[in-house]
Amino acid sequence: MRHYLLFICLIFTLLLFSPNCTIKQFVLQKEHGAIDGGQNLVPNGDIEILENGEPVRWNYRGRCAVGCPGFQSDYALTMEVSGQDQAAQWETQLSSIKPHTKYVICFWYRLPQKGRIEVILFGKTLSVDQMFRYNPMHWCRYSAILDSEEMEGNCKISFLAKGGIGPFKFWIDRIELYEGESPIGQNCARLQYQYYNTAYVSPDIISPLPFAFEWTFDNGHRPQEIQYIVELPDEVEFISCALGRICKWPPDGWSITWTRRDDTSKVEIEKILMEGRPYFRVLARVASILGDEKQLTDYVVPVGVRDHWKGSLGRYSGMISMCLYVRSKVSSGSFPFYYYAKWDRGQQPRKRLNLEVITIPEAGSSKNLVLISEVQMQAGDKNPQLAEDFLRIGLNGIGHMDLRGGDSALRNKIGKFRQMGLRYFTSWVNIASYNVDDKDAKAMDLNGQRTGKGGWCLSYRGPGWVKNMNQYKKRLESGVNFLAFDDAKPSTCYCDQCKRLFAQFLRINTDLPYIDPSLFMKEGWNGDQRYKILWKDFSLWHYGRTAQAMKHELVQSLRYRGLNGRIYFGISSWLPFTHPFAAKSLTAFDFDIRQTYMNWASSSFGGSPKKVGDYLYQSQEALGIYARALAATLSPGLTYMHPACALDPYSQMKYQILEAMMAPHFAGYLMYAGKDIDLGDMKYMAEANALMVRFEEIVLKGKAIKPIEINQWSGVRIKKLGSKGLVLVSDYSTYEPIDTIVRFSSNDLDEQTLIDAESGEKIIPISGIYHVKIKAERARLLYFGAD
Ligand SMILES: [Zn+2]
Repeated sequence: MRHYLLFICLIFTLLLFSPNCTIKQFVLQKEHGAIDGGQNLVPNGDIEILENGEPVRWNYRGRCAVGCPGFQSDYALTMEVSGQDQAAQWETQLSSIKPHTKYVICFWYRLPQKGRIEVILFGKTLSVDQMFRYNPMHWCRYSAILDSEEMEGNCKISFLAKGGIGPFKFWIDRIELYEGESPIGQNCARLQYQYYNTAYVSPDIISPLPFAFEWTFDNGHRPQEIQYIVELPDEVEFISCALGRICKWPPDGWSITWTRRDDTSKVEIEKILMEGRPYFRVLARVASILGDEKQLTDYVVPVGVRDHWKGSLGRYSGMISMCLYVRSKVSSGSFPFYYYAKWDRGQQPRKRLNLEVITIPEAGSSKNLVLISEVQMQAGDKNPQLAEDFLRIGLNGIGHMDLRGGDSALRNKIGKFRQMGLRYFTSWVNIASYNVDDKDAKAMDLNGQRTGKGGWCLSYRGPGWVKNMNQYKKRLESGVNFLAFDDAKPSTCYCDQCKRLFAQFLRINTDLPYIDPSLFMKEGWNGDQRYKILWKDFSLWHYGRTAQAMKHELVQSLRYRGLNGRIYFGISSWLPFTHPFAAKSLTAFDFDIRQTYMNWASSSFGGSPKKVGDYLYQSQEALGIYARALAATLSPGLTYMHPACALDPYSQMKYQILEAMMAPHFAGYLMYAGKDIDLGDMKYMAEANALMVRFEEIVLKGKAIKPIEINQWSGVRIKKLGSKGLVLVSDYSTYEPIDTIVRFSSNDLDEQTLIDAESGEKIIPISGIYHVKIKAERARLLYFGAD
């Protein structure tokens, strides 16, 4: 997954930093009173206009009501049904529908367990039943393109609540219907707050406020510039604003969105009064760029992408195009703020959300853990307090600073950060023979042709290798000291050199005589089938050998230049293997940084921190003596709007870190991708880091006991070091906290009293059984024999 993004990045770098990126002069435009909110064909579609408590223009049948809060708003529609009831239904009248025309329908919803919403429009029934968890409070988005066919003029749209176990509530909000295939309407722009219902700010660290913008303009309607405006209360101090341009990929389709930095657009600040209170307006003027047509045509995030269930990475994380860096001047409170897009002929209706002031605890600093995070868009340039902020939340490494000014700027920044106490500076790399243009780098097939069908030739050391290695050497000279290896690809190359190494692999690890792989891998070969398994294993072993060669060369080069030769390698993606000895050659990798993206898809870790912990425990166990020190690549919500978010999008950050920390041979983590991390994440990162730092010795050196499985959402993990130990008890089985008790016993605990690391509560076993209450805190860290 990592690799794909990096690849896209490279393409955009080539594509977008082309010399024809000239900026058109801003032309003054006259103020327009026209508010461009009238395109939504659903009347009162955001359910914010009420009369006597009823939503204007909506009719209902069954147990229907207005609920609050809505999705990023005050109100939403709700429906309640129990098993025996007739379906509840909301309905409204649409007008001016054109026949044989495509329309986009979008809305946000929440469903009870096994519930289903049916949307009836243009004589068609759309069934909406995707919901990640039982009793979910997480808003999900649905969108579809529908053809009106014979329908014309007035037409109804109905939402029916169906099924569900027990009497549960259905919610719908922000219902939009647009003519055409754009989910925001025609010839307009939109600024959207990423993520969720509240934005957090703090007086303790600089707070990133992430937004996305989208637009769609036909040729001839394109404005000279679009303004993205955020109005913030005076209780907040403005630090800086990072801007990016959303790009789509591929150019003629929509499988991914990505942001490239925009350093040319101007940002203005003006003081204003709002209802008598001092506010300031941040106004980003994003000009149309000539000669960059592809990037500006129909730049809306398309239907289906925002409510994608199969994979979120890239689709979601690529959407941030504006990030404000602010700091609270006060230590508590909640304040409204406003945002909208504006262009020469129109304006998005102003949106309001609340800023909530929170405090970020000081986490303390770790002696031996590796605690690395990537950062928000352009943070290296835009956040003057980046190092202080990182140290406050307990981090000691930083990745992807997104700096301008090339190698020398990076060298200066890393130099300063190092003096302040940060220790690890990461960069994503890959095996130097990967993605090389040279034909000789391509894997040779069974017939002796370098087709590249089997990936890359890991024995290749030609000009492409040299070029990549020179790049890596430059990065190391800038102060980067941690090379994180991106997605690995299997390499099945039948060249003589690769075969010779396979012979060596067999000799070292088995008693089997050498057989030429181009014989035993031929279809229909009837000999000892173990060879085929070993050939697969060899791919990983060879990967490790190649990394060793890279490390050796890089360290030599640094020494030659009189620089500190201490560098770290991390392996983020493992090739499939059967025998653990295939991992024997991976000694060049100081850390196993395998990727565990909790919300990558509803099908992988399923939004469950417990599954992340289980996976890390099992993968370390499977490697046995070949396990590397584990510094897992974790992720923030990726992002919070993703329907696969199974828990509170912020607190899950803390839980996944604690779950990972209980794995064998744990050494730390790397948080990717940084642009999706906001203040809510950082707060919970700080809380988890504080606990890790406090129990660092047990975390690092303790023995991980086989976890106690309560059920698929609940478990107990124990780590012991001599007479001291940690116990992590969790229950993530509902989205909203519901009080439960996790009961367990363990011979490894010797009936010792467990103490809650945060509340100090003592838990004494009763007849050998511990009863641990789980409330709002879904995972509790308990300790014994230590302080
Ligand atoms: Zn080869």
